[in-house]
Amino acid sequence: MAQKTEAPKKNVEPLKMDPSFKYEVMKEHDGETLKICFQCGSCTSSCPTARFSDSYRPRTILRLAQLGIRQKILPSPTLWLCTACFTCTDRCPQDVKVASVLRVLRNLAVKEGQTPRIFIELASNIYETGYAYKIPELRQKKRETVGLPPLPKASLDRVDRLLELAGGSKLIKSKEAQ
Ligand code: SF4
Ligand code: SF4
Repeated sequence: MAQKTEAPKKNVEPLKMDPSFKYEVMKEHDGETLKICFQCGSCTSSCPTARFSDSYRPRTILRLAQLGIRQKILPSPTLWLCTACFTCTDRCPQDVKVASVLRVLRNLAVKEGQTPRIFIELASNIYETGYAYKIPELRQKKRETVGLPPLPKASLDRVDRLLELAGGSKLIKSKEAQ
């Protein structure tokens, strides 16, 4: 009879807890509401994104943030699935500003250089044209042929200033450096 061989045991990396992480979140505007989340799950059950995703759960993200498990939050592309519809904020019985806490977490991810490439591309498009999507010349011509006026030109000086203030310029430079 053939002997069964045991599969080699994998080393499980323990999750690191950073007790200071929640304070990083709580010092930002509306981030302080993280501490009053009592994990009822109303945010997740009312979130339209969670309905269509197997992994996106705002309640879980907030719990991870409370526990300081930053490595499970900031590098995760899941964090960027929030559409900022604010349904969770409206439904939270504790008045946690859920969508704002998620925004704070995304900002921390950006600070740590964990922005998904697509968002860097979008920021770069806004910087160059004022539009998140670069409108092709062909599309502009098509507008003319159907009698539509040209799209308004963005005030790039203002866009530049806004991006500078929001830290977007650094993000765009990081793309250029890649
Ligand atoms: S609805 Fe509010 S209290 Fe309930 S889990 Fe979500 S954030 Fe926490
Ligand atoms: S704001 Fe984000 S987390 Fe909240 S319900 Fe909308 S998609 Fe879900």
